[in-house]
Amino acid sequence: TSTPRTLEKKVLLAAPRGYCAGVDRAVITVEKALDLYGSPIYVRKQIVHNKHVVETLEQRGAIFVEELDEVPTGATVVFSAHGVSPAVQTEAKDRGLKAIDATCPLVTKVHHEARRFARDDLQVLLIGHAGHEEVEGTTGEAPDHITLVQSPEDVDALDVPDPTKVAWLSQTTLSVDETMEIVGKLRKKLPLLIDPPSDDICYATQNRQLAVKQIARQADLVIVVGSANSSNSVRLVEVALENGAAASYRVDNATEIDPAWLDGVSVVGVTSGASVPEDLVTGVLDFLQEKGFPAAEEERLTEESLVFALPPELRKDLRKGA
Ligand code: SF4
Repeated sequence: TSTPRTLEKKVLLAAPRGYCAGVDRAVITVEKALDLYGSPIYVRKQIVHNKHVVETLEQRGAIFVEELDEVPTGATVVFSAHGVSPAVQTEAKDRGLKAIDATCPLVTKVHHEARRFARDDLQVLLIGHAGHEEVEGTTGEAPDHITLVQSPEDVDALDVPDPTKVAWLSQTTLSVDETMEIVGKLRKKLPLLIDPPSDDICYATQNRQLAVKQIARQADLVIVVGSANSSNSVRLVEVALENGAAASYRVDNATEIDPAWLDGVSVVGVTSGASVPEDLVTGVLDFLQEKGFPAAEEERLTEESLVFALPPELRKDLRKGA
């Protein structure tokens, strides 16, 4: 006997999702700086790539600027989690700004690698996206040594003057699978290519991609909460689509969900990027419940326990009570 398959509605919630240690630290840095020094606190670029986080900090007195020339002399400025080039650090010093560096320590690690490779006079192939703040910051460590590689197609066109002196690095928030494809192609073209000492794609990016893969296989639709300029959030949509989800969309919050996406859908997967506060995910889950879906079942891939200390220049003032 065959009974027609009943379409049992389900919501699968990926874990880990949301805030990583670097984002948590960067947001707390701005909050503590506001508490300690009072407003305004200037922040160069979005502290993390999330609209909601930026708006909330703005309401508390943070002023977001694109470049340091918008910051009055003597003011306090926080550098975002994505990192800055040495030229920006120098400019802050020259302008007499009080700088607090909220660059994620895992991005700083990539800066160190770039400097070391450049010191060894290697050509560094940096896998990443043009115009992303992290790529701009890392490239600024050794502009003459670094060449950006954005896609497998870029590898064909690469000009490497000395194939015996070449290494690769990557942005921290890329797709692991796509990056490995590019590295494979690079290695074919450049057999003496030197690897970074450890993976540059950070633990949080990797865990969120593995967790979304796990739910994508079972889901008709995967909703990724995250802002459009958030590299790791955009990658989660791609990873979901490449790993079995029939459809996947990125939204900043529940109001951006088109109810038509749910037509004929029984299993919805939900996850969020590394810069996304959990209440935005809760909003999406509430919306799904209003549409007749049950409470979410969390599928946890692994636990995360990493916590980074706040920037030393802030810790010092916190100890003194500034
Ligand atoms: Fe740091 Fe990774 Fe978070 Fe970026 S995504 S802030 S590199 S932990």
